[in-house]
Amino acid sequence: MRIVLLGAPGAGKGTVAKQLTAHDGSVQISTGDLLRAAVRAGTPLGQQAQAFMQRGDLVPDRLIMGMMEARFQERPDEGFILDGFPRTIPQAVSLGLLLKGLDRPLEMVVNLVVPEEVILDRLTTRRTCSNPACNAIYNVKSNPPAAGDACRACGSKVVQREDETPEAIGRRLEVYRQQTNPLVGHYDRTGLLVTVTELDTAAIVKTIVGALAAQVG
Ligand code: ADP
Ligand code: ZN
Repeated sequence: MRIVLLGAPGAGKGTVAKQLTAHDGSVQISTGDLLRAAVRAGTPLGQQAQAFMQRGDLVPDRLIMGMMEARFQERPDEGFILDGFPRTIPQAVSLGLLLKGLDRPLEMVVNLVVPEEVILDRLTTRRTCSNPACNAIYNVKSNPPAAGDACRACGSKVVQREDETPEAIGRRLEVYRQQTNPLVGHYDRTGLLVTVTELDTAAIVKTIVGALAAQVG
């Protein structure tokens, strides 16, 4: 599959993307995960991105597109689930051109719609595996890590992200409303948009897989 997952921070893009990879072997490409790995590794990209991320602001489009062009060149033929990208209209336009050049156009854009109170609750209770090769997502209430905050998949420490302070969460939601939400209209006009309002991950995955099958058939 070649799809984009749209939705506010905390809408479940990462969790849903991980489950979709099991469906047909398509890979999850999370710009947030790629950026956090770059920050940890101290690369030039990571050094430039860090302050934006800590505040909850978007990393400039130019840096994101450089990173994603490199990522698509690595394995241009694989199926992908884009998680957290594109996040601005210019990123969406650049992505369209990039995929056109690769002859791998998007098949579907899924908008995960989640009520604001659910989002706020999830973001404050979310925890993430600190192992960049794993990035498993937990929730202290509904899906806690193992004893000692250990990741149940890889055993690494499970932590709260640096941008999960109340200030940064507020900023991320504001940035989402202003800069990312306009992508819903953008992709609706191109006929690619599917809106999903379920909150349960398994139900969301089922709806997406069903919509993809209906599209092919
Ligand atoms: P969430 O969706 O929960 O906010 P992500 O892990 O997708 O979290 O993103 C974390 C941060 O990484 C964002 O707040 C932003 O600073 C940066 N980031 C991720 N993807 C992009 C993108 N496509 N464009 C600009 N900045 C991005
Ligand atoms: Zn892990």
